[in-house]
Amino acid sequence: MALGTLGAAFISGPVSAAAPMVKTQAPGFYRTMLGDFEITVISDGTLDLPVDKLLSEPAAQTNATLKKSFLGSPLEVSVNAFLVNTGSRLVLVDTGAGTLLGPTSGKLVANLRAAGYLPEQVDDILLTHMHPDHEGGLIANGQRVFPNAVVHADKHEAAYWLSKANMDKAPADSKGFFQGAMASVQPYVDAGKFQPFNGDTDIVPGVRSIANPGHTPGHTTYLVESKGHDLLLIGDSIHVGSVQFNNPSVTIAFDTNAKDAANSRAKVFTIADHDGALVGAAHLSFPGLGHLTAEGKAWRWIPANYTTHLP
Ligand SMILES: [Zn+2]
Repeated sequence: MALGTLGAAFISGPVSAAAPMVKTQAPGFYRTMLGDFEITVISDGTLDLPVDKLLSEPAAQTNATLKKSFLGSPLEVSVNAFLVNTGSRLVLVDTGAGTLLGPTSGKLVANLRAAGYLPEQVDDILLTHMHPDHEGGLIANGQRVFPNAVVHADKHEAAYWLSKANMDKAPADSKGFFQGAMASVQPYVDAGKFQPFNGDTDIVPGVRSIANPGHTPGHTTYLVESKGHDLLLIGDSIHVGSVQFNNPSVTIAFDTNAKDAANSRAKVFTIADHDGALVGAAHLSFPGLGHLTAEGKAWRWIPANYTTHLP
């Protein structure tokens, strides 16, 4: 009797239906320590970019290079923000896209919460620059998402993107960049919570700005330092690692000044190599943390080793 039942089940296969596929990614945060500082990379999601049309080299060359890395165009590009808990201040570098760039991005707050923090706890927001994928997350429905935070950005960046005269002069397909920056930053200006700075300066204890213009007029890298350990948050100094590490002279259409952008990339990569600094990049594959070493005119990217050691 029992044997017969078993035999029937065996012949007809498993009794239960196949499990439905889940098809969601794990919460997008990654944590590591830098000296006494806790660093949490927060994913805002990804953007599908037609990089073969955006990079400054011929499309066929980009596509051939991507293929060697088992990639293609459009390329799913990560959008990473970086949360630094210094022990006395909670500092967020960039805020993701909010609602500006569609449903594949704008996940910063959900992932911040998943990482154990609340938007109200953020003391300072440091913008690498005012493109939508970096400032769009500042607001939701016109309201400040981070009600207790002071927003910091280079004054050249503010002067460029928050200028109506510049927007009026800009080509039609670029005006949205200005509108996005104004809509996102203005509520903080109105609340007395916007503090521009000038070039290289100390922003909060342990975090210093390094002027890095070219991608935008006030593009900034942030140097985070604790107990002799350095982290360089390089913003959009690079977009497509599989192409631009090997050929760093390749620029992207989003660069306001391509030549300066390439020079700034070389400058900040050289600092990273010289200091042995950990690097955090906004658009390298999540979590976008690693080290850089020079190899002739090219660069080698060594992704950070996964760690669960968070003393
Ligand atoms: Zn960007």
